Amino acid sequence: MPSYERVMGTVCLVNLYDNNKQKCYDEIFERLRQIDEEFDADKKQSDIALINDFGFERPIMVCDDVYSVLETAVKISEITEGAFDPTVGSLVSLWKIKSGSPHEVSANDLKEALSVVGYKNIILDPESKSVRLKKKGIQLDLGAIAKGFATDEIVKIFKKHKVKKAVIDLGGNIYVYGKKSLSKPWNVGIKNPQLPDSVPLVKVALPEISVVTSGVYERFYDGSAKSYHHILSPSDGYPVDNDILSVSVISPSSMLADAFATAFFVLGTEKSLQVLYSARKEFRMEIDAIFIEKDRGIVFSENFPYFYSILYDEWERKSPKSPL
Ligand code: ADP
Ligand code: MG
Repeated sequence: MPSYERVMGTVCLVNLYDNNKQKCYDEIFERLRQIDEEFDADKKQSDIALINDFGFERPIMVCDDVYSVLETAVKISEITEGAFDPTVGSLVSLWKIKSGSPHEVSANDLKEALSVVGYKNIILDPESKSVRLKKKGIQLDLGAIAKGFATDEIVKIFKKHKVKKAVIDLGGNIYVYGKKSLSKPWNVGIKNPQLPDSVPLVKVALPEISVVTSGVYERFYDGSAKSYHHILSPSDGYPVDNDILSVSVISPSSMLADAFATAFFVLGTEKSLQVLYSARKEFRMEIDAIFIEKDRGIVFSENFPYFYSILYDEWERKSPKSPL
């Protein structure tokens, strides 16, 4: 029986395909609750809340989990030239992303929120594992990477318990673990962003790996026809509006897949394909991506190594606009 729990602002589902693994389930959900306590900016005593409240006044010593995720987050911000930025907290509050109520924001409020966005204001000290903020008012938000980190932590628990085969779905962060069967790979479906509750748009045959999708399945409009959703451009402060409906990133590291899915959504397909090269080199990790675009074209990263099928006739594979 699979097991699930509400944690990290979403539902985490784990299937171990084994009825004698209650201990393993318990350890997994315990670990997730711990990670939630460390990362949730809304929990007053979390490391992230402490950095946000006092990081400008003094260095804040943080736990290993938060330190290592911040280190990776800053590296990804550098590689993506700030398209991914863990200091978007002020914008997330301004747009009321967590309460999900779309609304207009004033130019002044936007300017103010943007003035405290910028990953270069995060100062990490590896010796003392402490974090300092160079600017007053900076608000860290690790919502685009923490679930990926947590997913990788679950995989560590699988290894410890010698789990043979399992699936994780942590709010859309998928991990297929072990071998599905001797003869068959895992099949992971990528949602059709225009019909999110229907048959998947793409099916990909995969070995043990993570798949993370950042997408906009619902767009809210007000009179100005601007779209509101939860992925924000750190350069202009608005919800990103480009050719992309969703980006799925496939990698053995769910943390990288999570962060790059968000970053690629911001960067757009062509720029992302360039960044993908540097990312693979920097992290020495397989990273592939599927970009689903508004014109019903689907772009796969170069030399995409997995078998896939597109399940709708009106959608087709297309080449990026400017091949590398
Ligand atoms: P989801 O959490 O729905 O799986 P993402 O992984 O793409 O989606 O993360 C989106 C969350 O990340 C937002 O809710 C917000 O907290 C944060 N975020 C939004 N825009 C950015 C950005 N450009 N860089 C880093 N984090 C972002
Ligand atoms: Mg993400």
